[in-house]
Amino acid sequence: MTDLSVAAQHMPEHTAQSGIGPPLWLLAELTYRCPLHCAFCYNPVNYTDQQSELDTAQWLRVLREARALGAAQLGFSGGEPLLRDDLEELVAEARQLGFYTNLITSGVGLTDKRLGVLKDNGLDHIQLSFQDSTQQLNDFLSSTRTFDLKNRVARSIKAHGFPMVLNCVLHRYNLPHVDKIIDMALAMGAEYLELANTQYYGWAHTNRAQLMPTEEQLREAEAVVERYRKEIGNRCKIFFVVPDYFETRPKRCMNGWGSVFLGVAPDGAALPCHSARSLPGLTFPNVRDMSIADIWHKSDAFNRFRGFDWMKEPCRSCEEKTLDLGGCRCQAYLLTQDPANADPVCDKSPHHESVVRVVREAAQRGAGGGVALAPDEQPVIFRNDANSRKLSGQISGQISGQPNTPTPAATDKTSDQGARR
Ligand code: SF4
Ligand code: SF4
Repeated sequence: MTDLSVAAQHMPEHTAQSGIGPPLWLLAELTYRCPLHCAFCYNPVNYTDQQSELDTAQWLRVLREARALGAAQLGFSGGEPLLRDDLEELVAEARQLGFYTNLITSGVGLTDKRLGVLKDNGLDHIQLSFQDSTQQLNDFLSSTRTFDLKNRVARSIKAHGFPMVLNCVLHRYNLPHVDKIIDMALAMGAEYLELANTQYYGWAHTNRAQLMPTEEQLREAEAVVERYRKEIGNRCKIFFVVPDYFETRPKRCMNGWGSVFLGVAPDGAALPCHSARSLPGLTFPNVRDMSIADIWHKSDAFNRFRGFDWMKEPCRSCEEKTLDLGGCRCQAYLLTQDPANADPVCDKSPHHESVVRVVREAAQRGAGGGVALAPDEQPVIFRNDANSRKLSGQISGQISGQPNTPTPAATDKTSDQGARR
């Protein structure tokens, strides 16, 4: 939500000389711990493999080095970043360094006292997630009883004078509620509403069959958004993040690998995108061992998919390659097992049928109704430690050469039972 072109004008000299721009956007994933258990969580399904977390001094060094390199926008994320009791100290340092800061939170733990300290320490804005406009679906999808709490937190955020982004991930279950979700955001006084159609990585990929909407649901929701945009003007800016499975060209993922985005995972692994850890054959540098400047400019992982030399056909000779840069490397790997392939969302990809088939199956399944499962439907697999450990074992099997696609049958199918708070 800040003008990154301003930061580009102040690019450090060594960055300008290398021809690689600075990491304008730093995402500090402070912890993978989270009180919620979202079915679409973007954290790695094997997050339990990475239990260690950077300490406060290490995070402070990351902030200083990234800012010196030209980073301008800083997101504090997770998991739930409020589970770190040094969040306030990190926010204060970020303000002192001149970052524009954003707290990305479920709201759990955001007390009035903490809001006051965060305000005093210079936090610029807060992104609060909701799973739906109804208590039933919000609580089902997060496998927690948090709807009422989130409503209270939204009021407190506004009472403390923060600009607020309401974020809601969209999918088959809640797309029919888009009008109610917008009404909720307006009633709360949110300045921005991000309606983010599910991107199928992490836990969302595991639950893809359950979450994938029909094309009809999507088009209806888009029409509702357009109608509201005309009616409400600038009262609340609505972003509608397009679901790329329904497109014929891929997204320009992260604006290019190693182009503007630098993510740091809780254990210090530096990532060119949230999901990059799922890619085989890449060793991601760790901020404990390397400076941010060396990670950004010299590491193999950040250089691997920069430019065009890594591309295979049809991208290599495609006249559109400067527009989308071949799409998303993680999606190419997830759907074709080769991260250097064209993103199969593209209808020029020989693997495009893998995307079409998923959309076709969603159409056959239909819109479904509420949280009730059809008799032949797999239950949703919620993000929790037990499921993560099971899925992690299967991923290890795949990497060591034993094909073993994670299947719902091998995971905790007790839906939201036993995980409520
Ligand atoms: S998506 Fe849900 S479970 Fe995942 S980090 Fe965010 S709030 Fe926690
Ligand atoms: S072939 Fe590759 S570069 Fe061309 S449009 Fe498709 S994804 Fe983009």
